[in-house]
Amino acid sequence: MFYAYRRKITLLLILLSALFFLTGGSSTSSKIVQPKQVYTYETMVKDIKKLAAKYPELVRYRSIGKSEYGRDLWLIEIGNGPVNILLNGSHHAREWITTTTLMEMSESIAIKADAGSNWKKLSTTDLLQHVTYSIVPMVNPDGVTLQQSGPKAFLQKDQAALIRMNKGSLNFKRWKANAKGIDLNRQYPAGWGTIRNAASEPSYMNYKGQKPLEAKEARAMAELTRKLKPELAVSYHSSGEIVFWNYKTPSANLQRDRMIVNEYAAMTGYRVVNPESNPSGGGFTDWFIIEFGKPALTPELGRPSGETNVALSQWDRIWEQHQNTPWLLGSRIAELWINNVQTVAVASKVELVAASYTYSKPSLNLDTRVRLAAGIYEAIREKGSWIEIRTEQGNRWLAKGLTHKVSKEVDKEEEKEIEKEPDEQVTEPGTEPVTNSVTNPGTESVTEPVSE
Ligand SMILES: [Zn+2]
Repeated sequence: MFYAYRRKITLLLILLSALFFLTGGSSTSSKIVQPKQVYTYETMVKDIKKLAAKYPELVRYRSIGKSEYGRDLWLIEIGNGPVNILLNGSHHAREWITTTTLMEMSESIAIKADAGSNWKKLSTTDLLQHVTYSIVPMVNPDGVTLQQSGPKAFLQKDQAALIRMNKGSLNFKRWKANAKGIDLNRQYPAGWGTIRNAASEPSYMNYKGQKPLEAKEARAMAELTRKLKPELAVSYHSSGEIVFWNYKTPSANLQRDRMIVNEYAAMTGYRVVNPESNPSGGGFTDWFIIEFGKPALTPELGRPSGETNVALSQWDRIWEQHQNTPWLLGSRIAELWINNVQTVAVASKVELVAASYTYSKPSLNLDTRVRLAAGIYEAIREKGSWIEIRTEQGNRWLAKGLTHKVSKEVDKEEEKEIEKEPDEQVTEPGTEPVTNSVTNPGTESVTEPVSE
């Protein structure tokens, strides 16, 4: 009787664990971001910290300022390269599926690069020696919280104003603005004076404020962008499965920018929006295109969803469309960048601290990749984030960040680095990048003080 009972229990346990693996229980439980939920600011903050703790060599985070109601605006940085790609979401409150997308994307980038996965002829791990993704998943946390939880999430004294800006309605599902009633994507200094269909007072949508960059959230984004000087910016919105890419784009940049948007559209199936002769302006992408002269995209995620958030039932489709976009855009932008930097001759010795992958040209093509043993090598030339060294198998190119200069300069730089006041966020256990920050330009920004 006793043995029969125990056998039944054992059988049950085996069945249960088989079921667990069959339903993918093991993979979902180890994944951090759970996208099929109303994805809140609080969930995002927890997930960002977990990602940084799980992938300390790849993922860092810091606050870039505060919202009007005092919420930290979080930036995630993934990668160690000098080529910056800025991704942002939820300028508009009801469009928070863009936050979910950027959080899922952050984890996906880290998983693939950590595992050494390839995408086509690209090593995702090697790409992150040249590229850094700077990701602000939720530009408007007050607005998102209001859209998801209603005015009860705010202090009693603020609730009447919120309801007034919502035209007396207690249904906040259509809310786009920040919680002061300013539309954050009508706040940027690009044709701001001539924005069309502007609301005359603070409102759930379309009020552009009294002046550009008046809202703290837009100001923090502009300051961050000016500091990072990205090679590409993508500002995610919803909905419609379309993508904007042009705002008074100079003719010299048209071919380049058209190529970027066409590749993005081919991968996602999104429709490229034709340039208007008289665009309205005030958006982040509009401003980025004219201020920096670099390509920028505004994808509208999800099928047309009307005056509310995109339904969670669309998630699988959105992710299927977007899961490989970081690799497509990252490799393309890195290639454009390297083609425009000069090759300079150098005469120095460098140390390869660990065995590393090298390429026949300064280009991430797996067909030309060879592993090289650790050791001291003679450096011949540099090109952007690449360095060329002499080896027994001929000259090879690799990421500069994988090498140390062998000279007295190294000691001086190290002293300087130690004297600097370390950033509070970065020294938190588990968030400090283990990669060498002395010779790697991409990690230097981490030690800079946070502006507010
Ligand atoms: Zn929007």
